[in-house]
Parts: sequence; C-alpha cells; structure tokens
Amino acid sequence: MEGIPQRPKHTAELLQEILQRTQALPNEGAVANYIPALAKVDPNHLGIAVAELDGKVHIAGDAQIPFSIQSISKIFGLTLAMERVGDQLWNRVRMEPSGHAFNSIVQLEWEHGIPRNPFINAGAIVVADTLVSHYSSSRAALTQFIRNLAQNPIIFVDEVVWESEREHGARNAALAYLMKSFNNIEANVVDVLDHYFYQCAISMSCVDLARSLGFLANRGVQPGTGEVICDPRSTRRINAMMSTSGMYDQSGEFAFTVGLPAKGGVGGGLVAVVPDYGVICAWSPKLNSYGNSYRGMFMIRQVAEELGLSVYS
Ligand code: GLU
Repeated sequence: MEGIPQRPKHTAELLQEILQRTQALPNEGAVANYIPALAKVDPNHLGIAVAELDGKVHIAGDAQIPFSIQSISKIFGLTLAMERVGDQLWNRVRMEPSGHAFNSIVQLEWEHGIPRNPFINAGAIVVADTLVSHYSSSRAALTQFIRNLAQNPIIFVDEVVWESEREHGARNAALAYLMKSFNNIEANVVDVLDHYFYQCAISMSCVDLARSLGFLANRGVQPGTGEVICDPRSTRRINAMMSTSGMYDQSGEFAFTVGLPAKGGVGGGLVAVVPDYGVICAWSPKLNSYGNSYRGMFMIRQVAEELGLSVYS
C-alpha cells in the first residue's frame, strides 16, 4: 500500500453516499436460518463504520446497533489463543485455505482431524479447545478481552442466539467429536462447543467491531490505549490468514476485487483491516451462498475502491 490513501471527500460523507447507493440496489440473498434465532433479524438493517488509527470513527446507517458477530468472533479467539499457547497451536490447525464450505466435514476426515485453518468452524473449535484448556473460565476471559478492545463494558452475549446455536449445532458437534476421535480436542467436547457457541453469540455493533480490531492495522498495538495486544509477527499472521481464508470459499474473489484482510460472519457482519489506516466494519444480514453478507461486501468494496485501500496496490 502506498502510504495513507488519497481521500477525494470527507470519509463520513463518502460512507453516507455509499449507504444510499447500496440502498438503491435490490436486497439480495437470505438471512441465515440454520440457527433459527438469527432468522428473526430485520433483513433491511444496513450500517457501516470506519475507525481510523487516530481515534476518528465515521459512521453511516445502523452502525451503532449490536448484531450477532458469529464468525467474526474467530479473530478474537485466535488472537487470545496465539498469545496464550504460542506456536504449538500450529501443530493442531493449519493455515491453508480450505476450498470447502465453512462447516464442511469431508476434508477433516481425510486430513486426520487437523483443520485447514482457524477461520473455518473446525479450526475455530480447536482454538476454542485451547482456550477452554488454558483458562479457568474461557468465556469470561474472552468477554473481558473483547470489552477491553472495544472500550465498551456493556458488550453482551445474546442468550437466545447462544441457546439456539446449542440446540441446532449438530454439525459443529459432529466436527468436534470427529476431531476428538483423532485426539485433536483435549477438553470435554460439551465444554468446548459451549465456548464456541457462546463466542459466536456475542453481540457488537459496527462501531464496536471496527474499534476493537484496530490493533490488526497497527502492528499489534491497540490505538487509543497503546496496549500491546499481540506482537507484529502474530499481527501479520492473523492478517495473512484473514486474506487467504477469512471470507471462506470466496476469499480469492475478495482479495481480487477488494484486496484487504477480512472476516465475515453469518450474522451479516464483515470486517476489513487496512494496515496503517484503520478498520472498516459493514453489516447487512442477508447472505450469499458462501455465507458472506451480500451488501456488506458491496459496501466494503466501494470504500476500498474510492479510497484506494487495497494492500496489493
Ligand atoms: N455460529 C456459526 C456456525 O457455527 C458461525 C458461522 C459463521 O458465522 O460463518 O455455524
């Protein structure tokens, strides 16, 4: 990236314009319904926030309404686990794109219970296992970590979504038990799944998410507080894996068209890291067939193009 991008207009004004452009398009896709509590969300929500490293936050639309962060939580879990267990983690989960759906089981059997990367469900369940095994209360540790990053003490877990994930989590349970059979889950499977479902059910707004992930754009140092969240090597590694696997089976297309490390969740949230600049978070609940937010992708692509943010330019 060639330094701080050129800004043709004030960022807040640009976000407002992009929001209107997006509202003018048909609201394509479908809200996730395999977790019934997620199907109850209003599909017309649309919001975007950009948190810059100097503390400025620009918003448009529903950027301050909390939503279910779902797989975006995998970034927080991974950061905590990398700090806690170090490079041993990479004996249990790899760093390759999967080429399969986020909750696919087939590859895991062929590859002896070692998930392709920490951003597919199987990989995030291994990460959850390390947290359950290394903390007396992994859920409390993760919640505290996230609240501290977002500087928002009222970030909460949506109990209805948590319960709904537990009730309808057969596929995730299958992944966890399959990995247990290959000795790649150490703790009790029920506890590991409970942690995984809990972290997916955390609610945050676009503003919370964009602010909380600033350290990934700042070599591991959290803007504002100056706290070292992880070292520059871990920061590079997390961003690299977000670039290759964060958008699941659409990661290649996202790199091709947008060019930013990113992570989507089935709640319709999407975060993108712009090194040395800040973090963008968009939210629109309707998803495409890969499980990524339709309009969220459109909005982030527009911001990246207008501000010239691709890391590959
Ligand atoms: N809780 C979801 C699941 O395990 C997360 C998936 C996602 O957001 O992509 O299926």
